[in-house]
Amino acid sequence: MPTLKLLLLPGDGIGPEVCREVEKVIRCLEAAGIASFETETDLVGGAAYEAHGKPVADTTVALAHAADAVLFGAVGGPKWDRVAYESRPEAGLLRLRKDLGLFANLRPAICYPALADASSLRRELVEGLDLLIVRELTGGVYFGEPKEIVTLETGEKRAVDTQIYTTGEIKRIARVAFDLARTRRNKVSSAEKRNVMKSGVLWNEVVTRIHRDEFSEVELEHVLADNCAMQLVRRPKQYDVIVTDNLFGDILSDVGAMLTGSLGMLPSASLGSPDPATGRRPALYEPVHGSAPDIAGQGAANPLAMIGSLAMALRYSLNLGEAATALEEAVSRVLASGSRTRDIVAPGANPIGTGDMGDAVMAELRPALS
Ligand code: NAD
Repeated sequence: MPTLKLLLLPGDGIGPEVCREVEKVIRCLEAAGIASFETETDLVGGAAYEAHGKPVADTTVALAHAADAVLFGAVGGPKWDRVAYESRPEAGLLRLRKDLGLFANLRPAICYPALADASSLRRELVEGLDLLIVRELTGGVYFGEPKEIVTLETGEKRAVDTQIYTTGEIKRIARVAFDLARTRRNKVSSAEKRNVMKSGVLWNEVVTRIHRDEFSEVELEHVLADNCAMQLVRRPKQYDVIVTDNLFGDILSDVGAMLTGSLGMLPSASLGSPDPATGRRPALYEPVHGSAPDIAGQGAANPLAMIGSLAMALRYSLNLGEAATALEEAVSRVLASGSRTRDIVAPGANPIGTGDMGDAVMAELRPALS
């Protein structure tokens, strides 16, 4: 049985509440003999700021480097609104992403049949939806220099953001997308704006070349990012893997998120480059939602996005794809049985709490593993 190193960073607000449910799943996988886990728990975000005066300690970053996967809850809250910009809770997550070189952000949008009515689109458009958005996370217009607001001689101000992509940055994200498509329905849609942006022209050329040279058996289509946004709400099931840059990925993945109904359901993964010696990829898994201060401490949070993030870790970092599928199917059965937390409950029905939702998943998972 392999021993896998997990670092748990529960964070703030509902982060620790949903992480507790993931720990139950980890113990359950262990009890079923799937793997042995060496878990460590540490502080991040506001909790780390209170303890060390910074949102992530150097020792925590070192633990993250040594782990097979990092499971991150959520950070932030009104308590830290006035903290200096570089010490705010979110800076802890940004430092982890930067130090681990997490350039590929994976956001699946899966619509469970039982929740199809929670989407803002009609049931037939989203039922059975299973798409994956692969967003470039460390380059592009959010990081390009110059990035400034200057005052001109006329007294007018001028704001500049710079979109920059190198061949290498495009190649590595394209490879992640093609690799993942091979494990799914074998189709990649690459979204850019080559009609008006030079970075779009280069993106298109490089993705085309990587496809021709390394992944010709995968279907590739190019789509303009604005058309992609339109198609996502018109006919989302046409997509399997969408690969796109940082800015378009930010927007398209939020569109993808709403197709499935609730923030409390959405997991994500951020991956770095494999270590040439060990082949191990740095990876951080987290729910898309934040620390939800409005419901923190009430035991009302939906833990399924966090549990789904563990399923992604099992599949993409821990080589336990079958256990990941068993976990996702357990979640699907729980939802089909009608058990719902407050955020996804049907009108007139009674919601269950965070712990009860975790227990319901366990009750479905245990027999599936034995
Ligand atoms: P949020 O995602 O925390 O909450 C938005 C709404 O969704 C709230 O009404 C909340 O109750 C609900 N919600 C979120 N997750 C839920 C869950 N699992 N179950 C049930 N309901 C859920 O976003 P926000 O309110 O804009 O931000 C709150 C704090 O979280 C801020 O400090 C923000 O900076 C931070 N934040 C952190 C992350 C992160 O850690 N990656 C991401 C987004 C926001």
